[in-house]
Amino acid sequence: MTTTIYYEVDGQPVPASLCMWVLIAPCGCECAWALTEYTATEDQAWEDFSRPTAVRRRDEQLGYRMTVKRRSDVQMADCTTHTPKWGVEPRPKLDGHTWAAKRGGRGLHLVPLVIEKNGYVINDDRVAAVCGRADAYSWSVQPAAVEGQVDCKSCIGRAKRLADGAVTA
Ligand SMILES: [Zn+2]
Ligand SMILES: [Zn+2]
Repeated sequence: MTTTIYYEVDGQPVPASLCMWVLIAPCGCECAWALTEYTATEDQAWEDFSRPTAVRRRDEQLGYRMTVKRRSDVQMADCTTHTPKWGVEPRPKLDGHTWAAKRGGRGLHLVPLVIEKNGYVINDDRVAAVCGRADAYSWSVQPAAVEGQVDCKSCIGRAKRLADGAVTA
């Protein structure tokens, strides 16, 4: 006996073999896809797209949404027509600073770049993030430490004000 899983697409049952999970960016473009044969549920699809719970919550707040589409209706394309790309403002950059994670800490903070060595920002003294809410001797910029972390909102706000010249570091 074989079991066929169906998804409801536009009110119609469609076999999983003809469906795909599609992540829709806030601008309306499709930005990620997963085969429903391997990722049965929406939760699994978010995980498949390397978005652990904290990142998923942030993305949902930004307006990302997950849907099931017929494979024939999927429109794989890089978002080239929207500004900002995907309808999401990129994380602000600040001269002499880098986005980094604290060991065992939560979130990515914007910290002054003192010495960067083997993926770590190492300092002689504790270095505070621009938000003033986190400090550490060692901040990591390694993908393993940075991936799945959400940008600190206070650091984003502070970086924008610093870039506008509204405040000084
Ligand atoms: Zn777009
Ligand atoms: Zn911060």
